[in-house]
Amino acid sequence: MAMNKSRQIFIEKNAEIVRLECNIVDYGIKDIFKVSEMLGYRTIRYPIGSEAFLGFAMIKDSERIVFSNSSLILSREIFTVAHEIGHQILHLSEQGKTLIKDDDFNETDEQEKEANYFAACLLMPREKVEKFIRLELKDKSITKWDGFDIARFQTAFNVSYDMSLIRLKAMNILNDEIKEKLQADKTEQTATKLLGVISGNTELCKATEVKKVPAVFLEWVIANYNEKLIPKTSLAAALKYVDLSPDDVDINDGMVDEEESFDDLLSYSLISRELYGK
Ligand SMILES: [Zn+2]
Repeated sequence: MAMNKSRQIFIEKNAEIVRLECNIVDYGIKDIFKVSEMLGYRTIRYPIGSEAFLGFAMIKDSERIVFSNSSLILSREIFTVAHEIGHQILHLSEQGKTLIKDDDFNETDEQEKEANYFAACLLMPREKVEKFIRLELKDKSITKWDGFDIARFQTAFNVSYDMSLIRLKAMNILNDEIKEKLQADKTEQTATKLLGVISGNTELCKATEVKKVPAVFLEWVIANYNEKLIPKTSLAAALKYVDLSPDDVDINDGMVDEEESFDDLLSYSLISRELYGK
């Protein structure tokens, strides 16, 4: 990790503050989406496809938005939201950068490394990891660890198998040799099977495809329609998710319809700055 020590501690402290603010006492975070909302972020989940981007953090007007792609397996989506919370706290500001979009979590620049580190600290805090190993794995020697121990860890912390290994290696609990052996255990058994055997949370390995769009976003869609910034088909698609039709809401009619999917609307109306009507 290229980050200097004081920055690392600053990030760790911020992750700890989030846990305190949200009263998290368990090992992992059961509902990161709720945490994101408790922090005051408009939290949007939408299945935009497994090949699409992972998520983004944004400030729009005075609102802070966290978006996650629910076509990803749940453990990855959870990590995405934790990562975007990191961007919100560490990198976005009204005066500075207002949008960071993540296509992947390759640690190409410093901000990505920092957001990943924040997410790891938030989801798997050092003292909780140590406590888990002592109390749940009964301080078992790491040379005796197998895929089932990692599956238990995953279930306690709500993270992916790979993220578990990365965190344990970064904390110097695992060395390269043992990490490789555990990686091979996963290849042989698959994380889902390992979780199944220990009655762990196999949901972590599936995509939820959840569509969660806050009411304020729908209000914003209606406002944009009234400003003639989006076609009626997009408005109808957006309203369908709350069982409404354009006839049910107060709109100005008279715009020519165009083909546009709700997916397109979500992904680029939220991202493109031209549509904010500023
Ligand atoms: Zn990022």
